[in-house]
This record gives sequence, structure tokens and C-alpha cells, in this order.
Amino acid sequence: MTSSTDRNETLFERAKRVIPGGVNSPVRAFRAVGGTPRFVQRAQGAYFWDANDRRYIDYIGSWGPMILGHGHPNVVAAVQKAVTEGFSFGAPTEREIELAEEILKHVPSMEMVRLVSSGTEAGMSAIRLARGATGRSKIIKFEGCYHGHADALLVKAGSGLATFGNPTSAGVPAEVVQHTLVLEYNNIHQLEEAFALHGKELACLMIEPIAGNMNFVRASAPFMQRCRELCTQYGALLVFDEVMTGFRVALGSAQSVYAQAIPGFKPDITVLGKVIGGGMPLAAFGGPRALMEQMAPLGPVYQAGTLSGNPVATACGLATLREISQPGFFDALSRKTRSLVDGLQAAASAEGVPFSADCQGGMFGFFLLPELPQNYATVMKTDSPRFNTLFHGLLDRGVYIAPALYEAGFVSAAHSEEDIAQTVAAAREVFKLLAK
Ligand SMILES: *Cc1c(COP(=O)(O)O)cnc(C)c1O
Repeated sequence: MTSSTDRNETLFERAKRVIPGGVNSPVRAFRAVGGTPRFVQRAQGAYFWDANDRRYIDYIGSWGPMILGHGHPNVVAAVQKAVTEGFSFGAPTEREIELAEEILKHVPSMEMVRLVSSGTEAGMSAIRLARGATGRSKIIKFEGCYHGHADALLVKAGSGLATFGNPTSAGVPAEVVQHTLVLEYNNIHQLEEAFALHGKELACLMIEPIAGNMNFVRASAPFMQRCRELCTQYGALLVFDEVMTGFRVALGSAQSVYAQAIPGFKPDITVLGKVIGGGMPLAAFGGPRALMEQMAPLGPVYQAGTLSGNPVATACGLATLREISQPGFFDALSRKTRSLVDGLQAAASAEGVPFSADCQGGMFGFFLLPELPQNYATVMKTDSPRFNTLFHGLLDRGVYIAPALYEAGFVSAAHSEEDIAQTVAAAREVFKLLAK
């Protein structure tokens, strides 16, 4: 729809005059898929309505936080109550303790947690803690994993293992990423080589256990086990970036999924965001007591925030975590997500479209590839014009998935069986077009 009555178009033109690209976070601009972003007017349950008052089934859910769907009554009530009590104090509150206790209850690798306002801030602080605690500078990250936009993490692989990364953004000096080593995800051989070369200088290895920023790619259990062993052997810290997977793939987060395959498995530092704020700006990082006591004001690693532990955000996060920790919540959510993924797979197969998909808890991903990819280079082999046809085909049919092929999808407790059936039916129509 590009007629003069399209309010999305009008708002986008207006936005572009005052906000770079018309958006406050790049992927929202639809540049990968083309077309006009939908400006959201309001949302409820599994749906949002755009500026033309058109309804969409929402599989983004603010990129993960809205695990209960939009406007859950208990969350709304908690936020409304909190707002009447004050927006921000810059002094401690009981609610921060309650949220910390609730988080620690479900993620036993963490004995203490510090609350911050964004995943970027949490990831950046976790690296500072790892460097401060080990007295080392070098870090490992993996191609295709996103850990927020801190300077040291905006980096792609250099020309070889002995060389460190290259900045992926203007404004990041080469010196700032000279300590960041970028490796291929799921490549055990390369991992071992990197530790053999640099192990004793490594502060940490940071990883998305299920990479949601290259659609949906799992770290294999043997690869994760090797990451753990090598970190322990060389005295580097294993940092789990669970900003997306935390309280999304399981109540115990992705680390609980790996602990099933690898007995006794635990990361050293966990980074959280998205779901723990329930849609409000809130994130966290945590780990064992001795490590977290390195943080100011107890220890030498500085970190602070005017809005950290904000009373409205913590009320929202706490109410969300209390809902999702009800017995059976994740079983029901997992079943629903699985039925979506199975439905899409069956529809693609019926139309002869190459397709592969995976899911865990309330997070899923699919590829227009015959097999699930194991690393970023393979993800990028997805035919993007075909993905764009799928994206716009679904959008035209009232189904909103991520506007880029390297992003995961999210199902909420509010999605009904009818929503899933409608989504699968819409996808089948688009697969028919793709098969031609
Ligand atoms: C979203 C995300 C971040 C960044 O969080 P922001 O709140 O957007 O700064 C970091 N790591 C992962 C894995 C994420 O998905």
C-alpha cells in the first residue's frame, strides 16, 4: 500500500526529516527488505495495529521481551501501581532486591546480579568485569553473534588467527578492537588453535549460546563443552550473552538447556536483557559472588547508572517473571512454538520449497535453506530476494516477522492456535509463489 492514504508512508516521510533513517534502531527501517516500516499505534495480546489501523500477528514482540504478549493485565497493573509511586529516585528500592532474587532463583550460575538499562550496557560491563577480574585484555567473540554496540564488540574477523578483528562501524578506532579475536561459530578446531595461541592472554570468551542475531543457530553441545573446558584450562571467563535467550528459551535460560547435555555445565558470567524487563529498559549481568564483588563500590571495576534498577522497569520485569515462572508456562509456550515451526515446515515441503527451522521455548528461526546452518557464512547463503518475497507476502497477509533474514522470531503466551493456523496458511500461499 503506497497510496496517499497510507499513514505509515506519511509518518515515515515525517520521521526521516527529524530522525536519521526515520528510526531509532536501524533494523526497523526495513532497508534489508525494502518498503515502508509499519508505525505501531497500539498493541494487545499477540497483535499490533499500524498507523492505518491494520492488524498484524506479531512475531517480533519487541525483539523478544513481550513473552506474555502485549498488555498482560497483571503486568499493566504492576506498572500502573509503580508509576503512581514514583518514576525514578536515584536511591535503592526493595523492588530491585525482589527482581534480583527472582532472577537468581532461576539461574543458579549467578549468585549476584547488577541491574542496568540495556543489553549493550550489560554486555559492555560484563567484559569490563572479565578484564578487571583476570587482569587480561584479550577477548573472543564469534562471527554472527551480536552483543550490543559497545566499541570493542563492533568487529569482524581479521585475515587470520594471529590477527585481531577489524571494526564494523565507522567511529571505532582499530586500536579499540585490537584485543578482540573473532572466530567462526561451532568451529572446534579454530577455537582450539586460538586458545593455543592466545589462551593465557584471554580475559573471556563471549558467546550467544543460541545465536539469535544470525536468525537461529545453536552452538552444538560438543562445541560448547570445548568452550567451557578451554576457558577453565586457560583461566579465561566464559560469558554467556543471554540477552535474547534468557527467560525466553527456558525458565533457566539457555544455560539450563546446555546443562542437560553437559553435566555440571555453567557459564562464569551471564548477561540478560529483553524478557527480564518485560518491555521496559532493563538488563543485567551476574555471576559468582567472588567475581561480582569485584564491582564498585566493593571492588575496583567501575560501573554506574542514573536509571539503573528503575522502579517502573523493575516492576514490569518482576511482574513478567512471576507470570512466566508459573508451573507449565514454558511447556505450553514450547508446544505452541513447535506447532508453528512444524506447520511452516510442512507447508514449505508441500510446496517443494527448501526450508529448515528450529526452535527452543518461545524462540524460533527458519531458513530458506535445505539444512540448518551452523555458522554465519552459511546463514548468509540464504537467498535474500526470496526471503524478501516471503517477508512481504506474510506482511500483506497480516503476519509480521523480522524484516531481515538474520533475525530470530518470537512466540508469546498470547498467540492462539488460530493465530498459528492463520500464519501457516498465509505462509503456504507465499510458498506457492516462491515455488513458481
Ligand atoms: C538485543 C541483544 C543485545 C543488545 O541489547 P540492547 O538492549 O538492544 O542494547 C545484546 N546481546 C544480544 C544477544 C541481544 O539479542
